[in-house]
Amino acid sequence: MLIIGGGPSGLLLGQLLGRTGIDNLVLERRSREYVLARIRAGVLESGTVELLREAGVGARMEREGLIHAGIYLAASNRGFRIDFEQLVGGSVMVYGQTEMTRDLYRARDEMQGPTLHGVDEVRIHDADAALPRVSFVHHGREHFVACDFVAGCDGYHGVSRNTIPEELRREFERVYPFGWLGLLSPTPPVSDELIYASHERGFALCSMRNPALSRYYLQVPLDDRVEQWSDDAFWDELRQRIPHDASERLVTGESIEKSIAPLRSLVAEPMRWGNLFLCGDAAHIVPPTGAKGLNLAVSDVYYLWQALKRHYLDGDDRGIELYSETALARVWKAERFSWSMTRLLHRFPDQSEFEQRMQQAELAYLESSAAAQASLAENYIGLPF
Ligand SMILES: Cc1cc2nc3c(=O)[nH]c(=O)nc-3n(C[C@H](O)[C@H](O)[C@H](O)COP(=O)(O)OP(=O)(O)OC[C@H]3O[C@@H](n4cnc5c(N)ncnc54)[C@H](O)[C@@H]3O)c2cc1C
Repeated sequence: MLIIGGGPSGLLLGQLLGRTGIDNLVLERRSREYVLARIRAGVLESGTVELLREAGVGARMEREGLIHAGIYLAASNRGFRIDFEQLVGGSVMVYGQTEMTRDLYRARDEMQGPTLHGVDEVRIHDADAALPRVSFVHHGREHFVACDFVAGCDGYHGVSRNTIPEELRREFERVYPFGWLGLLSPTPPVSDELIYASHERGFALCSMRNPALSRYYLQVPLDDRVEQWSDDAFWDELRQRIPHDASERLVTGESIEKSIAPLRSLVAEPMRWGNLFLCGDAAHIVPPTGAKGLNLAVSDVYYLWQALKRHYLDGDDRGIELYSETALARVWKAERFSWSMTRLLHRFPDQSEFEQRMQQAELAYLESSAAAQASLAENYIGLPF
């Protein structure tokens, strides 16, 4: 099995396959240090937590991760809590993607799983034939590897998705007219649970990585650049968008990372072409509002691992044949949730007053209805896989 991409989906797939006795090689374009320096997701669904435990990489997450049994939603200085525990009997785990990736690299080292970093010019050949091959350049030399299957875990900018011929592939996309400016700060989080704040100046999110490391986000116009935002300007803007009691508690400090990410919804269909399987961001992107990106990558990996296990251990190819259909059924539900949270909480540049009132009415409904809250909670902690 050849895995393209040494991000969370490629590494987790490699780990699960390795423990099942299925040989695999991971090809990663970047250095390990580069991959581990990327600040990205931080909220793990309960299914993700379970799978990481099953993969034998849950020990540090159990010790250091923070269990969250709810979130706060706020609109113009009023807030209310969605209680996951009470509504649907579940929770999520706050544990940074960087930490999860670090645990997976450690486990891969222990397993002596082969990983090549700094590979270039990766190309997939004959993916629809019985024996696909992958060519790549490593340390200036060209290599060819033949394998049973190729897992395209190479993210949005990878080569795998575009290997599926255009006439067989469909892409469904929505690009949002704003981005998220994120700031990482070595300060205690303003709240013990995440605060999602809708405000006339734009959306804000108060998140965290651990009790001494906070992650905050602001909705910003697409053409804003990070250099325009001093730390002071960021903190001033955040204070205005979150409820007063939170802004009074906010501990500010010098940022250790600041970046702007555009928001996009994208699904590529199918997620399998012959012996090539797409996993994670290679096949779909969600806006981060629902905390689903990393978790969707993990559920794809689960379905693919199960399918390959059945193939190698039982000679049964039904899981392989159904992989795309099975994964996409869950992907679309998470896309819907991420889109609906984005639509509910952000200010859109062309938004009419009617649409603003609809947002307010939806938030008011959520505040007053246990049924609406249960639906949000069920999706937030993650649909089963
Ligand atoms: C800036 C940013 C912020 C995010 N914030 C959040 C968040 O707050 N919450 C959330 O839920 N999700 C967030 N996400 C999404 C989440 O991080 C992704 O869903 C998750 O990383 C998906 O994992 P993946 O392994 O599928 O893809 P990736 O993490 O993108 O990993 C793909 C890997 O493939 C490698 N690669 C690419 N092309 C090639 C090639 N040709 N050959 C070999 N290797 C290749 C890349 O270097 C990378 O290491 C964020 C994403 C970004 C980009």
